[in-house]
Amino acid sequence: MSKSAIVIGAGIVGLATARALVTRGYQVTVIERSSKAVGASIRNFGMVWPIGQPEGTLYNRALKAKSIWKEVLTEAKCWFYEGGSLHMAYQNDELEVIKQFAEVSDYRPVKVLNAAETLEMSPAVNGNGLLGSLYSADEMIVDPREAIAGVARYLQEKWNVTFHWDTAVSNVSYPNVSSGSRSWSADEIFVCSGQDFETLYPEEFSGTAITKCKLQMLRLESQPDNWKIGPALCGGLSLIHYDGFKAAASLDKLKERYKAEYAEYLKWGIHVMASQNGLGEITVGDSHEYALTFEPFDREFINIMILDYLATFAEFKSSKVFQTWHGIYPKMTNGNTEIVLRPSTGVTIINGLGGAGMTLSFGLCDEIIGGTY
Ligand SMILES: Cc1cc2nc3c(=O)[nH]c(=O)nc-3n(C[C@H](O)[C@H](O)[C@H](O)COP(=O)(O)OP(=O)(O)OC[C@H]3O[C@@H](n4cnc5c(N)ncnc54)[C@H](O)[C@@H]3O)c2cc1C
Repeated sequence: MSKSAIVIGAGIVGLATARALVTRGYQVTVIERSSKAVGASIRNFGMVWPIGQPEGTLYNRALKAKSIWKEVLTEAKCWFYEGGSLHMAYQNDELEVIKQFAEVSDYRPVKVLNAAETLEMSPAVNGNGLLGSLYSADEMIVDPREAIAGVARYLQEKWNVTFHWDTAVSNVSYPNVSSGSRSWSADEIFVCSGQDFETLYPEEFSGTAITKCKLQMLRLESQPDNWKIGPALCGGLSLIHYDGFKAAASLDKLKERYKAEYAEYLKWGIHVMASQNGLGEITVGDSHEYALTFEPFDREFINIMILDYLATFAEFKSSKVFQTWHGIYPKMTNGNTEIVLRPSTGVTIINGLGGAGMTLSFGLCDEIIGGTY
């Protein structure tokens, strides 16, 4: 008889865990508090982003995750776009970082482009003062609102995963999981509860080097005339946001200039990226505020700062904002890229992927379930 597993949470981490289990012969039940996933996994850019990951385990994990995304979304008949990414340089120190990064990254499909080549890649790039850009072919965009629902549907239809929606798990006591008076049992239990880590495991949460991060996001209306921006677009501030670029020797020097010139941006953790979905809409963000409890209100001035910086490197046919929101994810404070805990026999907590959950979950969960983590 096949082994059984219960997964708590239908965000990307729960879905990636369920996929890794069913492909290894488990009979899987996913239990989700809401009627559909509405957490961080549907509030993001949908950027599957190997360029943000440093060489070695994390970059390889990102590539593995990308290949799983492609396989799953193809079967689920969901949109995705392998358009790569462009990081623009308007100052010599940005160009220097990009060139150094490209030089030491011969294992990646990256290329330094001049201004004319950059504008050929994307009609949305601001050509004013442009020195060049870094093009990377690795990056892929999914539409998180469609894709997360699509992955759940695929798991249900192809792999007979049972989903219990509108069901908040109130207790885990191996081998049992209960929601009020209802209960289920399984050989293995996986807790993938995202930012609500503390409800089921308060001690494990408080004993861990973890905090939460709130990010503000905006969406611009579908571009007229089916206008496409091409690759996902990023400004210089993203070079100091992602660990991937630490490979560039002069990154610290660039960081010093930004500290002086963009102090307010760094204070609110703002770096700016834009990706276009299959409907032609453009997702723009973001900021990073760290705390255990956040004001529920968004800060209008952050959105304005994001749009102001966006205009320095990108111009769209329509810049009309039609949605704003924020998302929250747990983030490790000790530099770890995830947390995997075994609070009791048969129970595994997977959490803390921070800003890279869409990029890494399919790879990480496959390693955990496959025993190679
Ligand atoms: C604004 C923003 C932009 C981002 N951009 C990117 C990006 O472009 N690329 C990238 O790689 N990553 C990005 N990320 C990070 C990524 O979205 C997260 O790492 C990832 O979504 C975390 O997934 P999760 O499954 O842990 O959490 P969630 O998506 O929050 O899912 C957890 C689920 O568990 C459920 N749950 C919790 N407790 C219970 C319970 N007791 N019973 C039942 N269900 C429960 C919740 O209802 C929820 O649906 C971004 C995040 C944000 C917020």
